[in-house]
Amino acid sequence: MSGVPILRSRAELRGAVRRWKAAGEVIGVVPTMGALHQGHLSLVRAAKKHCDRVVVTLFVNPKQFNNPEDLENYPRTEVEDAAKLVPFAVDALYVPDGEQMYPAGFATTVSVEGLTDVLCGAHRPGHFDGVATVVTKLFLQTGADKAFFGEKDFQQLQVVTRMARDLDIPTEVVGCPTIREEDGLAMSSRNLLLSDRARIPAPVLHEAMQDVADGLARGEAFDALKTAAEARILAAGFTEVEYFDLRACDDLSLLDAPDRPARLLAAAWLAGVRLIDNIGVPARG
Ligand code: AMP
Repeated sequence: MSGVPILRSRAELRGAVRRWKAAGEVIGVVPTMGALHQGHLSLVRAAKKHCDRVVVTLFVNPKQFNNPEDLENYPRTEVEDAAKLVPFAVDALYVPDGEQMYPAGFATTVSVEGLTDVLCGAHRPGHFDGVATVVTKLFLQTGADKAFFGEKDFQQLQVVTRMARDLDIPTEVVGCPTIREEDGLAMSSRNLLLSDRARIPAPVLHEAMQDVADGLARGEAFDALKTAAEARILAAGFTEVEYFDLRACDDLSLLDAPDRPARLLAAAWLAGVRLIDNIGVPARG
């Protein structure tokens, strides 16, 4: 099997995109920050199914990190990532550097209001501006007809959907289900930062969320379920529950009960690593 074509410049990418468009091909993009796992690969699989050409992007976007140490510690595994993509025969792995994405004098920020004020947006100032800005650039650079994002980052999925709609960018944003480890932990590049010891209690976050969803389905009150879930997460060894919310799927407004399509979303710290997760909650009639 030959390797995945790696493109490092906008000019190379533009050339490939021009040829594909001229041939009338449907282009799909899968934006990532690398350290690829089965969650990312599920997006690649979906893109291959729905598109003629698939570009995976790998860029650890400094603008979406609000903490320099977090940016420095983020796993970088380009060689392994390229190898993982070989079986999928993607058409390009686009790996721009900072200079390609943010050349000297870069001065534009894409900011989505409202949706970004809550959850991760409230705890990571500037994070979603960084996401919206880089994703706008990636949509425009790849000219993608479809872009594949994970529900794992549910708020991000809502933000990029809103951004594309508001800016008339003709890229269809496609959401794909969260892929989990066997014990329920949502796959994430950040899981690599957990020691073997810290990895043991990690699935408790998802277990506690699942219990709350089950309780809600039985008609129990969210407040009491949330208090018990947070206590369980902390007792398992997490150091902080940053948020544990029930919110409406469409506008992420806070809910007391799932009286419209709803989602439980949580972020919690374990051994210095911030884990996030979310699950759907059946609407109560
Ligand atoms: P990241 O590399 O963390 O920026 O993620 C790149 C894309 O992969 C985003 O659309 C994520 O939502 C998606 N993703 C990350 N983890 C998972 C997962 N466990 N299941 C499905 N998609 C995921």
